[in-house]
Amino acid sequence: MKAAVYYGPGDIRVEDRPEPDASGDNLVVQVHCCAICGTDVKLATIGHHRAKPGRVIGHEMVGHIVHVGANVEGFAAGERITLATTVACGDCPYCVMGLGNLCPNSLPIGLGADGAFAELMGVPPEALAGGNVVKVPDRVPDEAAALCEPMSCAINAQQIVGVAEGDSVLVIGGGPLGAIHVEVAKALGVVQVMIVELTEPRLSMIRKFKDIVVIDGSQEDVAAIVKQHTAELGAHVVIVAAPAARAMEESINYVRKGGAVSLFGSLPSDAPDITFNSRVIHYGELRVCGASDSRPEHVRKAVKLLADGEIDYEKIVTHRVSLENIHEGFELMKQKQSLKVLVFPSVEEYCTP
Ligand SMILES: [Zn+2]
Ligand SMILES: [Zn+2]
Repeated sequence: MKAAVYYGPGDIRVEDRPEPDASGDNLVVQVHCCAICGTDVKLATIGHHRAKPGRVIGHEMVGHIVHVGANVEGFAAGERITLATTVACGDCPYCVMGLGNLCPNSLPIGLGADGAFAELMGVPPEALAGGNVVKVPDRVPDEAAALCEPMSCAINAQQIVGVAEGDSVLVIGGGPLGAIHVEVAKALGVVQVMIVELTEPRLSMIRKFKDIVVIDGSQEDVAAIVKQHTAELGAHVVIVAAPAARAMEESINYVRKGGAVSLFGSLPSDAPDITFNSRVIHYGELRVCGASDSRPEHVRKAVKLLADGEIDYEKIVTHRVSLENIHEGFELMKQKQSLKVLVFPSVEEYCTP
């Protein structure tokens, strides 16, 4: 079978690989499509410390089961599934606290185990034991289901930062995750969703989403526009979905007193520092939150939002490539020419989206 394999930073090859083993304890899935994640773009450029040469990458997948191990319960051939990517150990203090996404012993699919930029994928027994395999109902199309994992990360972040019905939310960064945050916020009942982006064509892609305020941060006064839409108070919540120090530093200027900021995007490890005006945080009683990854419960929530028709997934998916052309997809993401890019391992799926 064909698969995209990591050999080192910037060295990803589409090549023939043996089909995954079908054991008594695993599932084998035929992959319908798999979205390109920021992590995959990192692998295709600077690499990742947890990826070993020879690893099949890709984790934002949907596919149907073609093999069910004799010892596996609750799954049947033909069922469609998606995955929560981080398989937690279940035993460590973080797992015991219910924070499996922060588990230091986790197995990340597509980094520590073979992933889904492939025609077939073996689902490891650990993922089954951890509840990481989530069924997708018929009414959720493949192209929507491939968004469950990135959506789950946005859901985790919005839960942590305390997004609530009736809130106003400003998202900084109009890339794929910014677009997903916008749709998740609306689905969670946010009444005023605003988003800042600096560049085309992302601005044009973001302007297609319904019921949001799009701010061109290169031309417009962000603080003034946010105030104008929030009775001069600022947003209840600001989500920084851009890997930019300045965006993080400026985020506290757009939030109202008593509000909260989510540092959703991460900065490079060689330049992680930012400066905050502590008085704005202190006197404004602001909360500044992190967010990392997600848990199976967030993936199940994502599936539900998609099944309920709450997410305009067709505007989030802007490009499709075949597995052979996966590098075109990486380039689109690197050059900020796309929102989500889907990879289709099988020519048949690619022709009938
Ligand atoms: Zn991802
Ligand atoms: Zn653990």
